[in-house]
Amino acid sequence: MFLFLGAKLPRRGEIGTVQAGDHLAVGLDRGELAAEDFVEDLDILFLVGRAGRLPSPAGGQDRGKEGDGGSQEEGAAHGAAAHNSIRCHDDAGKPMSSVKDKDSRRALASLAEEVHNCRLCLRLVEWREAQAANPPRRYRGEEYWARPISGFGDPEARIVIVGLAPAAHGANRTGRMFTGDRSGDWLYASLHRTGFANQPHSQRRGDGLELRDAYITATVRCAPPANKPTPEERDTCLPYLERELRLLERCQVIVALGSFGWDGFLRAARALGEEVPRPRPKFGHGAEAEVGGRLLLGSYHPSQQNTFTGKLTVPMTDAIFERARVLAK
Ligand code: SF4
Repeated sequence: MFLFLGAKLPRRGEIGTVQAGDHLAVGLDRGELAAEDFVEDLDILFLVGRAGRLPSPAGGQDRGKEGDGGSQEEGAAHGAAAHNSIRCHDDAGKPMSSVKDKDSRRALASLAEEVHNCRLCLRLVEWREAQAANPPRRYRGEEYWARPISGFGDPEARIVIVGLAPAAHGANRTGRMFTGDRSGDWLYASLHRTGFANQPHSQRRGDGLELRDAYITATVRCAPPANKPTPEERDTCLPYLERELRLLERCQVIVALGSFGWDGFLRAARALGEEVPRPRPKFGHGAEAEVGGRLLLGSYHPSQQNTFTGKLTVPMTDAIFERARVLAK
């Protein structure tokens, strides 16, 4: 039996910032239990995740809903947000709680926190922050995330979607992959129609969106000028994708959105020591290749350039995710 004492935990180890905003449970036998374990075991992880004010690093329209961490609480709040963003549920809608699942979630939360604080690419750091400082008229008054974007979705996903990079006024504004722009509208609507998302829209963090059996990430985590990272920026960021792929152990199918995502996954797979076929598989919409025991499936990127021109249609997009589900079986 454990009593909830409400004491703040210090930072500790890879989930330190998650714990920092949480509380301590102490048993009658004086044993201590980390709050995260405590609440997961009692099946109330979501309630605790919402108990604190979750972050909007620059404040803005999410202020009061997701909170503005402030300098001292910021790390804790980011950790909590990262933890929330990879919340996982089983088919009955309950948090999964095996030791391995928890380890996987914690490692992904830790990685997400690391990503959020990365400033390795000077050009991209300056660009993402400049976009936030001078937004277009329609977003004036909003405060931007203006940090790198971590992966989002189900840690037990069999399908991992790899894009190019965040959009300057999409994910760079909202803080979540493919959220708050037309590409995301297109993508999440398709994921909803094909059963991978609980809702068709993705407007902001905390809007209730959950993915099941799908996880969305990108080759590069900061918005690049003209949507074109340099090869050096790609290579600097790639280890984050490699680490995510290592942690997403149940992944069977990679859906690459565009040739950059396709190439990024192949590079990451090679860096992980996986066997990449020769000749190197060529990107195409509907192209498939087996890479290191997983299946790579190509899709045109849902950019407006493709969707406005009819190069990528709704049935074409849905067919990709339906195919991914079949391949994952
Ligand atoms: S692109 Fe990647 S490596 Fe470069 S600053 Fe952003 S998160 Fe860091």
